This record gives sequence, structure tokens and C-alpha cells, in this order.
Amino acid sequence: MRRAIYPGSFDPVTNGHLDVIERARKLFDEVVVAVAHNDQKQPLFSLEERLDFLSQVTGDIDGVTVAPLDGLLVEFAVQQNAGAVVRGLRAVSDFEFEFQMALMNRKLETSVETIFLMPKEEYTYLSSRIVKEIARLGGDVGVFVPPCVVESFREKLKR
Ligand code: ADP
Repeated sequence: MRRAIYPGSFDPVTNGHLDVIERARKLFDEVVVAVAHNDQKQPLFSLEERLDFLSQVTGDIDGVTVAPLDGLLVEFAVQQNAGAVVRGLRAVSDFEFEFQMALMNRKLETSVETIFLMPKEEYTYLSSRIVKEIARLGGDVGVFVPPCVVESFREKLKR
């Protein structure tokens, strides 16, 4: 049984994240999507909302579960008996931070490998941050995020 953790803020989940989840699922029997509290980043969506979106959109994908992540990622991975952490790489701009995190995590826990997956080209310019910006300015985000997120944006940004 090969299990991987896919950690992130998912504020909110985008089609790019879903692409990575599906790719990861082809490599691992189980993928645990771990949603970070991330109070420092002052998320637009609460942890409960972010977990709920992910549960809704991954509900039909066999072998994918969703869990909150509090504390050290590598400790969570060990607790979950996962040998790998999956991260998405969109562009060179992601690389520096991801490289630092991967090597730091390896230093903290040698049994956990970090695996990088590239999304479909059309998702390489997609980020939760840009989607929030577009939604805030009244743009249509329907092609970037699942329908439950579009609906929630509508509610949240009602003026
Ligand atoms: P974090 O706050 O940890 O960066 P994110 O939710 O922004 O959390 O991203 C989680 C992971 O998914 C990161 O590895 C990020 O690079 C990756 N990711 C985000 N958006 C995309 C995308 N459009 N395509 C591929 N990977 C992505």
C-alpha cells in the first residue's frame, strides 16, 4: 500500500489542485489531501469550508481522503504511514520555495520523499491567490474552480 500526502492551504481548491490529486492518485494507492490551518496567511475560507470543498470534489475519487493538517508536515506523514509528500510545480517561481521545503523536510525526516508533479499546461498559471483576486473584482472564476467554490464565492463576496 503506497500512501502520499498532498499538503496545502487550498484557499480555495482549484482545478489545478484537482489535476495534481488525480496525477498523484495514479502513482499512489492512497492520497491524503492535508489542509493546513494557515492562520498566518489569513485565509478567505475557513478550514471547515476548505475541507468541505475538497471532500465534495474528491468524493468520487476512490483512494483520496481529506484531513486537516496542524503541526509539522513530516510528523503527519509518519503518523499516516505515508512515504511521500506530493507538491505541484507550476513554474520556476515555485521552485525556490519548494526546493527549500523539500530539503528541510528531508533533514527533519529521512523516510519521507517529496515528489513534484506538473499540472496540465493550462493550469500552470492558476493559483488560489489569482482566483480570489478575480472573484473579488467581479470576474467569472467558473473555469478555474469547481462549482461548489463558485457558489461559495458568490455568497461570500455578496455586496
Ligand atoms: P501552499 O500554501 O502550501 O502553497 P496551495 O494551496 O497554494 O498551498 O498549494 C498547494 C500545492 O499545490 C503547492 O505545491 C502548489 O505549488 C500546488 N499548486 C497550486 N496551484 C497549482 C496549480 N494550478 N497547478 C499545480 N500545482 C498547484
